[in-house]
Amino acid sequence: MRKTFMYRLYPTDAVDHKLLWTLSRCRELYNVVLTERRDAYTCHVKQHPNYYDEQTRKQLTRAAKKLVQCYQVIVFEDIQVGNLIRKPKPTQDVNGKYLPNRASAKGGLNKSMLDAGWGIFVSICSVKAAWAGRTIITVDPKFTSQVCSQCGQVKKKDLSERWHSCDCGAELDRDVNAAINILERGRRQRGATRVEAPCL
Ligand SMILES: [Zn+2]
Repeated sequence: MRKTFMYRLYPTDAVDHKLLWTLSRCRELYNVVLTERRDAYTCHVKQHPNYYDEQTRKQLTRAAKKLVQCYQVIVFEDIQVGNLIRKPKPTQDVNGKYLPNRASAKGGLNKSMLDAGWGIFVSICSVKAAWAGRTIITVDPKFTSQVCSQCGQVKKKDLSERWHSCDCGAELDRDVNAAINILERGRRQRGATRVEAPCL
């Protein structure tokens, strides 16, 4: 796009930097939305997540605003939505008979990941956080829900298992346990000192 303005801008280094930064965030948001729509198409999800869909956008924006208003540092799992929505491989037994591979369960997860518009949400948060001077940290999502947030032991569990109970006596919701782990990783990444997890 070419545009001519009556007055030429002479931005300072700081302004120049900010402009470039804003442009790259917009580009990022555009690309994330594009990827998400493409993924939705390949997965045959009937309803595509659409940033321009009034209700989705309002919901996501409201949630992002709340986060940014309440917290100085926000930590996200660095989830590649594309990896999560791959179809599970078919499994066969020795006779060539197909075994259940939890495809329908994964299909449900895929759909909810796409419906939630996760990538779009993270992008909206990044933009809002930047304007509000907040920090966004993304961390490695590996084992965040399997590791015990109190003792560090790996406790394997199925996606359907919603409760985390460990030999060390930790008893808490699976998602709360994962959230504490994610926050702790974010803090470590930032080089902050450890803050005790709240009693649950
Ligand atoms: Zn434990």
